[in-house]
Amino acid sequence: MNASPKLLDGRWLAGVVEREIAQEVKSLAAKYGRAPGLGVILVGANPASQAYVGNKEKIAKRCGLNTFDFRFPEEASFEQVEAAVQAFNNDQKVDGILLQLPLPTQLASRQNVLLDAISPAKDADGLHPENQGLLMRGEGGLRSCTPLGAMKLIDLAYSSVEIGSEAVQFSQIGAADLSGKRAIVIGRSILVGKPLALLLLARNATVTMAHSKSPKLADLTAQADIVIAAVGRPGLVRGGWIKPGAVVIDVGINRTQDGKLTGDVAYDEAAPHCAAITPVPGGVGPMTVVMLVYNTLQAFRIRIKE
Ligand code: NAD
Repeated sequence: MNASPKLLDGRWLAGVVEREIAQEVKSLAAKYGRAPGLGVILVGANPASQAYVGNKEKIAKRCGLNTFDFRFPEEASFEQVEAAVQAFNNDQKVDGILLQLPLPTQLASRQNVLLDAISPAKDADGLHPENQGLLMRGEGGLRSCTPLGAMKLIDLAYSSVEIGSEAVQFSQIGAADLSGKRAIVIGRSILVGKPLALLLLARNATVTMAHSKSPKLADLTAQADIVIAAVGRPGLVRGGWIKPGAVVIDVGINRTQDGKLTGDVAYDEAAPHCAAITPVPGGVGPMTVVMLVYNTLQAFRIRIKE
């Protein structure tokens, strides 16, 4: 038992990434006469989505990006949202496009048609089939923000930088080689679980994908050196499931009856068994947001062939 595991502070790491992005944006803007642009489409008044979009735009602006948005009422038509996607596709000032999910019920069944309409070169959320196909083939392309952020937190777990230090540069946290490590990804969505499993595979981890139909989840988890929980069930992963010394990344965001945010891992039980663990809130969430800005910068660089 390790009574004090490394706390993978996503707010701090997001700040490290943000500082680096801001520097790059400054020099690219000076060189090319414009900063990268993020275009956001928000449909409806889901309070969580409004908060996420507000936060994403705030961080993007803080990094020096230009932001543009289309905001539609709950009852917006498919054609209206599709036209917004096309407007951003054709807008030379926009490098990255985010269609905030979930969409209202009348659009939900055609969500993938709208995601497919986003130009793959501007797909800041990495959900276009072309980008997901490139990921599967182990080639370039834009990666989904949450899996990308989770991977950076795994890199942090295996790095020796001092978490919390103002002096740390993002480049000091190298890509961890996960050869010989067993990882379990619990959850198989296209947003989180599947791309994360492929990213871990690309780092040579031996990956198990588990989901709602997987038997013996506790036994599978107990074999893993890296545990990713991306389910949406508070406290699903119990402390006794964790192999001593494992790295635990809790992607889940759940709201308790008293309004608090909590993850999919029973944190207090699990932490003493871990070498490193993410808190909820303050772990994967802030990394997801900053990775959207990072992806927009990547898209800008690719478009201008920098
Ligand atoms: P989803 O509902 O699309 O997928 C959930 C997955 O969990 C499914 O693949 C399902 O098979 C699996 N599952 C359900 N019950 C299970 C069980 N009992 N045992 C094992 N697996 C089970 O959700 P998602 O979009 O992948 O999101 C997962 C969680 O991550 C949610 O809590 C969501 O809010 C959160 N999330 C967080 C961030 C972030 O930035 N931190 C980003 C995206 C999603």
